Amino acid sequence: MSESIFEDALSRLDEAKAFSHAEEETIERLRHPQSTFEFSIPVRMDDGSLKIFTGYRVRYNDSRGPTKGGIRYHPSVTIHEVKALAFWMTLKCALVGIPFGGAKGGVTVDPKSLSRMEIERLSRGFIEQTVDLIGPHTDIPAPDVYTNAMIMGWMMDEYSKIVRSHSPGVITGKPISMGGSLGRDDATGRGAYYCIKELEKHREWNPADITVAVQGFGNAGQHVAALLHKGGYRIVAVSDSKGAIYRKEGFDVPSLIRVKKDTHEVQAVYCEGTVCEMVPAERLSNDELLALDVDILIPAALENVIHVDNVENIKASVVVEVANGPVTSKADTTLAEKEILVIPDILANAGGVTVSYFEWVQNKSGYYWPLEEVHEKLHRIITREFNYVYNLMLEHKITMRTAAYAHALNRLGDAIHAQGTQSYFSAVV
Ligand code: NAD
Repeated sequence: MSESIFEDALSRLDEAKAFSHAEEETIERLRHPQSTFEFSIPVRMDDGSLKIFTGYRVRYNDSRGPTKGGIRYHPSVTIHEVKALAFWMTLKCALVGIPFGGAKGGVTVDPKSLSRMEIERLSRGFIEQTVDLIGPHTDIPAPDVYTNAMIMGWMMDEYSKIVRSHSPGVITGKPISMGGSLGRDDATGRGAYYCIKELEKHREWNPADITVAVQGFGNAGQHVAALLHKGGYRIVAVSDSKGAIYRKEGFDVPSLIRVKKDTHEVQAVYCEGTVCEMVPAERLSNDELLALDVDILIPAALENVIHVDNVENIKASVVVEVANGPVTSKADTTLAEKEILVIPDILANAGGVTVSYFEWVQNKSGYYWPLEEVHEKLHRIITREFNYVYNLMLEHKITMRTAAYAHALNRLGDAIHAQGTQSYFSAVV
């Protein structure tokens, strides 16, 4: 991944600034991560050999609270990608009004090539290297692509051993038995689902008439697909890294998930079964899935999948960015010209970090909430912020992304201003 992903992410600040009351100092602060850390993780492999992996942790901005953001295991992880993801986390936490700043971490690794015990050693190694950065009141990691609750559990355990204090609040997305929150597993997909349900009211949709394609059938993609299916929407296409399947009548999503999960259990930490092996359906490439003539397209895999070279092919009327950064800024302009509504990542996938916040609150208080309470609190936050952003978009005739950024910048700007900016220091007393 080249440097341009981070530059591209920053390029959206200027447009949003015009619709926000944030001072120039806020924008300038947000152009620079607070700290970036690159480190190596030596891992003893099962065959006795030693491999060194490169890891990253970026704490982007803590003006609104401890920094928060997931850890990604993927072969294409670079410092530029981690910086972009940490920047988006900063805006996302501000957008939903939770008291966190933004961060992100990653390891350049193909986790599917490692055994379960090698992944455990790598995960504990990540914590050894970052133990001085992270902490329940400084920087709180969580899962991201190819990391999961079990990995978070190992990481929490390692941190607690090193600091000699049981510290569930250092990490979120843990197994329930280790202090995880009910409702964290499907929170990202559920947040996106709540956004779509609000849009359904604005557009007066009948769910049975609405077709949906989901790129990326992982944690976030599976849950949003399952909730939409339950809500009567027609999920006509899904994909994973190996390819896509299409069925115009729609899929029975729980069956798809069951097969994927069964394979997962048989084959340990990572599912090696692909959606292509499951049901009779038309096989497509991931590019063909993006170009389907559906009502809602949900990219839920990786960044930059909709770009200048394929944006003209997009036929969906709504794109819901469950993945972080799936649309490049140039492609974004084209989507706006084509009057395709994009529900931006910092809103559409904010359910995950919101319930991570709930998990952290529960860890701090030692008192755990029932599932209904988690859902009710998540629903209240996502619908409130969705409608605020939607109305801002209508009021200023801007894209939903620009409105979301402007709203987040206002909250970040208020926090940065409260610490003293030029307007305060140069005021005549
Ligand atoms: P995951 O590892 O559970 O799933 C990723 C899925 O994407 C897998 O099914 C994989 O096969 C598929 N995939 C990978 N490359 C692909 C490709 N080129 N084409 C199609 N599919 C491909 O990861 P996740 O946690 O679901 O995260 C997915 C996206 O959602 C990421 O952008 C992540 O940053 C974002 N996100 C996740 C959370 C969360 O709580 N999990 C929260 C916010 C945002």
